[in-house]
Amino acid sequence: MNLIFVGPQGSGKGTYGKMISEKLCVPHISMGDLLRNYNGKHKDEIQALMKAGKLGPLALTLEIIKERLSESDAKKGFILDGFPRNLEQARELDKIAKVDKVIDIEVPEDLTIKRLNGRWSCPKCGTPYNIYFDDKPKVSGICDKDGEKLVQRADDADINVIKARLQVYHSETEPILDYYTKKVIVINGDQHKDKAVEDILNKVRKG
Ligand SMILES: [Zn+2]
Repeated sequence: MNLIFVGPQGSGKGTYGKMISEKLCVPHISMGDLLRNYNGKHKDEIQALMKAGKLGPLALTLEIIKERLSESDAKKGFILDGFPRNLEQARELDKIAKVDKVIDIEVPEDLTIKRLNGRWSCPKCGTPYNIYFDDKPKVSGICDKDGEKLVQRADDADINVIKARLQVYHSETEPILDYYTKKVIVINGDQHKDKAVEDILNKVRKG
């Protein structure tokens, strides 16, 4: 079963993708991680592009995906997360892999904004917090575990930057849902993650 997970930042698609990959025993392939950890023949090129903050030419990205999908653990299927992000990428992906289902994680915009804007983490132990939800720190701005001062990513701190990121998602990525039409499974991302994962599994298995 070859699955693609689609959703805006803050939709939880990465978390769900990992959980589903364990249940289905197929690899969770995050495009960001794949490029970051890439160690093949295009390594130097990829590292230079990552350093420059660029995605790189589509042909190269596709070649790396193709390489990864040819590994033995992906024979039974895969979960692709973070690719394709636009129509052109979706069309090109179709030439190298069969997509069975596209999981569309839908989350209300105000919730997405809170999930991103409320994110803080401990620079020492890495514990993530969200000041708007149950996982807020006991003492504001301080890590529960080691008393370290929490930090926030600059692009999470600014609501306008978050909204601009979401806008790019709506205009660039959402059109791929129309492209995949009947393969799309819509999942409510505004529920407990275990419930969301159960929904995904049920709907994927039903075909
Ligand atoms: Zn800590």
